Amino acid sequence: MFRGVRVGNSGYIRDMNASAIFQLIDRYGPISRRELAHNTRYSAATITNHVKALLDAGWVMETDKGTSTGGRRPVHIAVNPHKAYIVAVEVEVYRVRLLLFNLSRGAVSRASLPIRPGQGPAQVLPRAVSAARTLLAEAGIALPQLLGIGIAVPGQVSPDGTLVFAPNLGWKRTVVREPFQGVFDCPILIENEARAGGIGARECQYPDVRNLAYVSVKEGIGCGILLQGSVYRGSNSTAGEFGHVPLQPDGRLCHCGGRGCWETLASETALLRAARRVVPGIADGHELLQLAQLEDGRFDEVFSDVGYWLGQGAAALANGIGPDLLVFGGSMARFYRWLRPRLLQAFHAQALPAVRDHVQVEFTHMGDEGTLYGMGALVFRQHAPAMLAGELEAAK
Ligand SMILES: [Zn+2]
Repeated sequence: MFRGVRVGNSGYIRDMNASAIFQLIDRYGPISRRELAHNTRYSAATITNHVKALLDAGWVMETDKGTSTGGRRPVHIAVNPHKAYIVAVEVEVYRVRLLLFNLSRGAVSRASLPIRPGQGPAQVLPRAVSAARTLLAEAGIALPQLLGIGIAVPGQVSPDGTLVFAPNLGWKRTVVREPFQGVFDCPILIENEARAGGIGARECQYPDVRNLAYVSVKEGIGCGILLQGSVYRGSNSTAGEFGHVPLQPDGRLCHCGGRGCWETLASETALLRAARRVVPGIADGHELLQLAQLEDGRFDEVFSDVGYWLGQGAAALANGIGPDLLVFGGSMARFYRWLRPRLLQAFHAQALPAVRDHVQVEFTHMGDEGTLYGMGALVFRQHAPAMLAGELEAAK
């Protein structure tokens, strides 16, 4: 529902059309008015009128990008990146990262804050608020230009946006948006980090895929699932906890209370635990990466074992939901070059033939920023149409 307009009146319909045209320009722009009319159900006159309103309000701009078809060079329309901005925040186990996006989802600037073990939301979140203010101030952006803030968290998020439990962070029942609300008068979205990663993968890498499962492998394993083009949240927003599918009946005790869960066998925590049996005292993933890059074969068996379990779990996931695409991401991305061969071998051995022959298995190209890009996209999709419609309505 667009903010500030009523269903059923002609103004609402008009603003809805303007918003739809804006979203087409966002997806396909720079695009000419003629191409917009040619590829939609709108008439040339309707396109011209709405584009004028969008230009007048500063949501789009004219650009000369595009190829001439002979005669006068066509003027193309693109989203005006400076019209509004989005702050994406990702709370991780050891740090909070922030990424300031313009309206075209181009990265403007970044910040990162370390979290010390045991620090709770009362210590961490106010620092994230300050960092967001600093990013905006340094970029010369006023608060009314902020379209929204999107915050990804490593745990279960209830439908009202409360972080219910983040096991690897140790935070429970946290209203993450609260410290931000007092400072920023804009929409604030909270989302599970794996789900945001799935949205980021679809938006930035695979825009035409309808059924996608994104596997975020970090300290634990979470999955973001998109079905028929929509994010699947499940009852009470709990969908995607495939990290707790039991794969080894008498396996290691998991913090969820179960035994042999996928994440006890194939998370980055499991990888580090196995690597320390080869080289005791490895501090963290960064140190393991440096050692692995020596390519001396010491960790071959470790990568093979963890890769095997990643493939086993991926087969269970794919057999269960039948996606078109399975994307592996998360901080584990830095190790996929060593994990990949055994992962794919185990996946192909365990997945049902009809699943195996259909699903495409990919490894993210977005490094560890997929979740931040997903939050940027989520804020844009949920709030740009409402802000735009409200502004056009107010301009009448
Ligand atoms: Zn578990």
